[in-house]
Amino acid sequence: MTKTIPQLIDGEWRESRARELIEVTDPTTQEVLALAPKATAEEIEAAVASAKETFQSWREVPVPERARLMLRYQQLLKDHHDELAELLASETGKTLADAKGDVWRGIEVAEHAANVASLMMGETVENVAREIDTASWVQPLGVCVGITPFNFPAMIPLWMFPLAIACGNTFVLKPSEQDPLTPNRLAELFIEAGAPKGVLQVIHGGREQVDALLTHPDVRAISFVGSVSVGQHIYRTGTSHLKRVQAFAGAKNHMVVLPDAHKDQVLSNLVGASCGAAGQRCMAISVAIFVGEARQWIPELAAQMAELRPGHWRDAHSAFGPLISQQARQRVLRLIAEGKAEGAECLLDGSQCQVPGYPKGNWLGPTLFRGVSPKMSLYREEVFGPVLVCMEVDSLDAAIALVNANPYGNGTSLFTRSGGAARHFQHAVEVGQVGINVPIPVPLPFFSFTGWKGSFYGDLHAYGKQAVRFYTETKTVTSRWFDDSAVAGPNLTIQLK
Ligand code: NAD
Repeated sequence: MTKTIPQLIDGEWRESRARELIEVTDPTTQEVLALAPKATAEEIEAAVASAKETFQSWREVPVPERARLMLRYQQLLKDHHDELAELLASETGKTLADAKGDVWRGIEVAEHAANVASLMMGETVENVAREIDTASWVQPLGVCVGITPFNFPAMIPLWMFPLAIACGNTFVLKPSEQDPLTPNRLAELFIEAGAPKGVLQVIHGGREQVDALLTHPDVRAISFVGSVSVGQHIYRTGTSHLKRVQAFAGAKNHMVVLPDAHKDQVLSNLVGASCGAAGQRCMAISVAIFVGEARQWIPELAAQMAELRPGHWRDAHSAFGPLISQQARQRVLRLIAEGKAEGAECLLDGSQCQVPGYPKGNWLGPTLFRGVSPKMSLYREEVFGPVLVCMEVDSLDAAIALVNANPYGNGTSLFTRSGGAARHFQHAVEVGQVGINVPIPVPLPFFSFTGWKGSFYGDLHAYGKQAVRFYTETKTVTSRWFDDSAVAGPNLTIQLK
């Protein structure tokens, strides 16, 4: 019988009483790997209540002790790196190399969380008025919630709970229902690292479960990563219930190619950044803008993309895996068909892709279009598949104008050998993460993940100093210590100096 995965509530792995279960399928075969419960209202209540109660004791645990938990945790994650990557590959279909990268990028955030003491330092000013000092203290918020997408089932939960918990909060994680096995394993290792009961809770489900958390009066802050429409719903609902919300959403990332760039570097980077992980990355390059003569490289790009073979993650020759679900594949097929119908020229069509031995996999081969205009659905919508569209313009400024007119602002990159062009681009482009000869410029955890415009709703971003500010609030204390002999009369004015 297929196993129903448990939920972590109040320090115990509990079987859910849910009547509704979600199938977790292997995207290469459609085999049902496990069932995920849709947590009942009582289970969500119990998880939040436990997190609320635990917060009272956890916030008092000295910061170095909280940091030591993260030191143990990041080491355990490293010890289990390969095992986690295999589990992750089995439920997402990602190649092993990519699955390892997913786990590793998460481990780096757990490492960063071990620096929490210096990240939480406040500020002081002596003598803000005569004999009066002011200091600011950084304190945790309480119960924080994380809602995560399917495409990075290790990295994105690890963007959230280690830092939130290191700051002294307690955390309720609701991972994607499409690949919840990896997040459950991350939580098991967190307990093994010595996390006290109730500090982390994991509940499963979909929209209803998320809505119960978004509106729960005891939840203080919500971190979300996922699609645009859900991100907007999360931001609107969470903030209208007076919660702090950070919502990372979809994207359309452009790579601008100048004719002075190194052709071979451009093409290999473009192939990897568009088709890696089957294009299911929020920082995938989905649009290449060729400036001037660089457009002559498009046929060679098509030839290089045609070499890529999707396949099973156990096959070391696979360039990338399947799409996560049949529904996701159908969506991309629709966009490819619309692109053709709208007049774009399809140079390479992966719609009919098959992988021998896996007839039921959600395969799509590399797909390349040119002659795409901003009005086409292929350009307007996030495709989230191994599909790259080429656009052609005559100047760097025209390329920048195109990028800036796009509603999203997650990532972009420029390939050039000109320092002046690079300086102009990085200054003028309205996108939060810019790469110069780096196709996917995801910052390491001591910076923050700084998507802009329609790719992010909120103020403070994921990881780095911004996340510490997101998961804490600042208290300022102004103090005066009287000299025993100095007795002042009643003070009826605001003291100015
Ligand atoms: P999704 O929006 O379908 O799901 C994300 C989470 O929201 C899941 O936990 C899901 O259960 C929940 N959810 C789904 N529908 C909901 C609803 N109607 N109400 C409340 N909750 C709901 O996203 P996905 O398909 O799992 O992930 C892919 C998307 O995530 C892409 O758009 C990608 O660009 C985006 N993404 C963005 C970033 C970023 O940093 N900007 C990073 C990774 C992924």
